[in-house]
Formats: sequence, structure tokens, C-alpha cells
Amino acid sequence: MGVIESMKAVLASPAPRSRPDDGSNGAYWCDDCDVRIRDVDLEGEPVCPDCGAAMRFERATGRDCAC
Ligand SMILES: [Zn+2]
Repeated sequence: MGVIESMKAVLASPAPRSRPDDGSNGAYWCDDCDVRIRDVDLEGEPVCPDCGAAMRFERATGRDCAC
């Protein structure tokens, strides 16, 4: 009984998605410290937690293309 119930729970749980749609458009970077904060994780001003400088916003790219 317990085993079957836990198997049902596993099957019913949503499959992990490779690209979670969390609304992120990119990330803020501090070039000096190499610190990165995603826009969805940022709270307040985009300021580097290490050096306090304003961070540069960089949009997420779908793919890296060198051409
Ligand atoms: Zn910094």
C-alpha cells in the first residue's frame, strides 16, 4: 500500500523542466568582481554586493553564435 502510494506520488509530480520559465530576461553583471545576479533574483537596486558599483544589465541570449 505504502509503496504504491509513493509510486503514484512520483508519477504525479511534475517533471523537471530544463528551461524553467521564471520570467528572467537576463542578469546584472559587475565586470570588476565578475559577480552575476539574475534579474529575477535581484532585490532593490542593481548594485554589486562586493564593491557597491552599479551593475551592467545583460540580456539572456538564446544561443552563443560567433558568426
Ligand atoms: Zn563589484
